Amino acid sequence: MSFLDQLINNTVRADVRAVNSYQVADAGGYLKLDAMENPYLLPLPLREELGTRLAGSVLNRYPHSYESLKAAVCNKLGVPAGHDVILGNGSDELISMLAVACASQAPAPRAVMLAPVPGFVMYARSAQFAGMDFVGVPLNDDFSLDLDAMLAAIEQYRPALVFLAYPNNPTGNLFDATDIERIITALGDTGIAVLDEAYEPFAQQSFMGRLPEFANLVVMRTVSKLGLAGIRLGYMSAAPALLEQFEKVRPPYNVNVLTQVAAEFVLDHLDVLNAQAALLNRARDELAARLAALPGVTVFPSKANFLLIRVANADDVCAKLLARRVLIKNMSKMHAVLANCLRVSVSTPEENTLFYDAFQASLV
Ligand SMILES: *Cc1c(COP(=O)(O)O)cnc(C)c1O
Repeated sequence: MSFLDQLINNTVRADVRAVNSYQVADAGGYLKLDAMENPYLLPLPLREELGTRLAGSVLNRYPHSYESLKAAVCNKLGVPAGHDVILGNGSDELISMLAVACASQAPAPRAVMLAPVPGFVMYARSAQFAGMDFVGVPLNDDFSLDLDAMLAAIEQYRPALVFLAYPNNPTGNLFDATDIERIITALGDTGIAVLDEAYEPFAQQSFMGRLPEFANLVVMRTVSKLGLAGIRLGYMSAAPALLEQFEKVRPPYNVNVLTQVAAEFVLDHLDVLNAQAALLNRARDELAARLAALPGVTVFPSKANFLLIRVANADDVCAKLLARRVLIKNMSKMHAVLANCLRVSVSTPEENTLFYDAFQASLV
């Protein structure tokens, strides 16, 4: 064994050595429909004004306070009065902050994070790296929550954290709100329910306004799917005493000055992004109807900016799409209920047509 192999074996955790790093495909020259990005840019005059703002930002100093950005987020994004937010470098960072805050220290038994599966992959990964055990509870075949199984698992494992993506990724559906309430209530004072509302701009359904009802609820969102994936900004809200604890594990300068300036600027023009989300919702329903009319294709109902599609042979269709330079996500191997399923982002009418044509040609 080489010196470096020895060194790595002697120093890096075994479970870290065993996993692959998160792969982001190089999409150069591809029609990129694998990451639920908003295809629209800000209008040119706004981009120019943003450029001026960014040029005037204070880059030589550490970001000293998030107060003005936090106030804008609270005022414009429906955070209830009396509730603050914590900002993250994307909601991915918030997920890992929650896991770090809730993982238990030896010799106590490991704290548990629970989530329905299939779900967002970063939950299990964040649990693992923080030293929590992850328990996945399978969804029903129609992708609804298996409430009895969820309640039984809560009883059995007493999870410190339960993550529910609302709508869920990669299935695209909203879980039943009554089921969610039952789960929050069942957790009581032994567990925190985290509603991950990354797709709220599309679904227009939220538990944010209901935070005052549930002391053990965290609502988390991101601006990524709304059209700002590049700036990396997520936010979460909860009862102030709970947020105060999570704030302790936040890296002090986690949201950079450029992100702060860009986000504050864009929040002043939220109507532009919301109009883009409305366009994408309409485009999603049109694309869904066209795809569903193809023989052998099932399109699942979606409240997000992507579609989950079942075909006869997902590997084959995916390979043919790739050969046509179309990048989508093959979900087949993720979970049994996703057998032969593909996930595709909804894009502009032009790109949706390019996708539709390539997809249709890849079916044969
Ligand atoms: C995309 C996504 C996120 C990640 O958001 P970032 O803010 O870009 O880190 C979180 N949760 C779900 C369910 C997502 O689909």
